[in-house]
Amino acid sequence: MSRVAQLADAIEQVGSGLFLVVTGAGISLASGIPTFRGNDPEAVWKRDVTELGTFRYFQEDPVGSWSWYLSRFAKVLGAEPNAAHHALVALEDWQTARGGSTLLVTQNIDTLHRAAGAKNLVEVHGAADRLRCPIDGCRYGAPRGSLARADFDLEPFQAEPIAENLPHCPDCNVILRQHVLWFDEYYTSHEDYQWQRVQSAAGLMRLVLFVGTSFAVGVTDMFVQQGLLGRVPIYSIDPGGTPPPYLGIHVLADRAEELLPAVCQRLGAKIHESN
Ligand SMILES: [Zn+2]
Repeated sequence: MSRVAQLADAIEQVGSGLFLVVTGAGISLASGIPTFRGNDPEAVWKRDVTELGTFRYFQEDPVGSWSWYLSRFAKVLGAEPNAAHHALVALEDWQTARGGSTLLVTQNIDTLHRAAGAKNLVEVHGAADRLRCPIDGCRYGAPRGSLARADFDLEPFQAEPIAENLPHCPDCNVILRQHVLWFDEYYTSHEDYQWQRVQSAAGLMRLVLFVGTSFAVGVTDMFVQQGLLGRVPIYSIDPGGTPPPYLGIHVLADRAEELLPAVCQRLGAKIHESN
């Protein structure tokens, strides 16, 4: 059986249950966004991301932390969803239309699933188009506050990267932080990460499809463990065909932007490209 047929059959068999998709940086490569920690030649900042992507680094050196993020956001904010993002929306609509449910959990902060029109979506690592106050309890900070990045002018900082030119909290007047989950933080640290919804989905899912994930962060591990425990079929689309660090995962060595549209066609799930 071809890999298209294999995945289409697995999705078909979810029936009216929950079809869960987890995406990582690999799905956005075709949109021109280099991966955070992949081996592609454009992988950003050779210095260890687990050191730079921390609340601790932000506290020690907010100017350095902001400069690092802005160098990455330049590519993120100009990017467009690719065929894989659009195909996932088509699969969501198709699954909903037959009375089933879906949840798309993305590790990406690039907001491309939202741009493509995904509805049942959790941006579990935060979003590049939001900022927040670093002080918990502030109405613009955790547990539920945030601010739109577009409301702040970052040009002064880009022209002269000093702390005074960074956006400050309108209430506390401290330097704002990225609204993303850092390596030294917890999924439960902000309501926008919707950790409870993610956890309950793990108990209900009838199929897990990983797309472009590296299996290096906690959320993938949680879904794999729950999937194996509940004997839920687990698929992973990875063009490199890298064996995941677990047994029992069906690896599909394809590009998601080619495989997923083909799966849609086979299932009769109609792809609408809004842009
Ligand atoms: Zn504040």
